[in-house]
Amino acid sequence: MSLVVNVEQTSLPIEGSDDRFPIRRIYCVGRNYAAHAREMGHDPDREPPFFFMKPADAYVPTGSSLDFPQATKDLHHEIELVVAINKTGSNVPEDKALDIVYGYGVGLDMTRRDIQGEAKKMGRPWDMGKGFDHSAPMTALKPVSEVGHPNQGAIWLKVNGEVKQEGDLNQHIWNVPETISYLSGLVTLEPGDIIMMGTPAGVGPVQPGDKLEGHVDGVNDLAVSYKK
Ligand code: MN
Repeated sequence: MSLVVNVEQTSLPIEGSDDRFPIRRIYCVGRNYAAHAREMGHDPDREPPFFFMKPADAYVPTGSSLDFPQATKDLHHEIELVVAINKTGSNVPEDKALDIVYGYGVGLDMTRRDIQGEAKKMGRPWDMGKGFDHSAPMTALKPVSEVGHPNQGAIWLKVNGEVKQEGDLNQHIWNVPETISYLSGLVTLEPGDIIMMGTPAGVGPVQPGDKLEGHVDGVNDLAVSYKK
């Protein structure tokens, strides 16, 4: 048997290593910070987490200079903690959830807010608002052996040197073990799966020529820019 087309396996670098982490699927948690839920017009009661996805090849590495995405006039930044899964897990209890985590990184859930807003209004899927080309810039991963399981620490995003988003990992409505446990009750998590943990308040527009810098304490720093 031979494959009829060549498809490149998308993969993340691992900090300080030549090894790479293959990306199978990218799951994103929606509205996982109360202040962000409020700024999007929702009441942050502790309703169960909900998820959407980006294609694996939405990933682009930190340091990239990106073309401004097509089909939007309202591109938004969302800085997020990235969790990388390296074991199979179905209905994983919370106290075992961290056992299937390989490591952590920092990512951007770039969003075509105008397309997402239209989808919300029409009761349609978010895919074209969230899962477009280059919509998931990420840093290299750091393995748990190096970074532990970060559950507190600053997370921020700057646009052209000005702080726009600021929060703390301890403000997640659903923390990492709870999120893994819940998601693994909906789908079987597999090695190569990525979870983006949701964004703090302060999301806003990005213009051509803007430089984005993101940070999560003890995890990593990310930088991408958009071409003029
Ligand atoms: Mn997000």
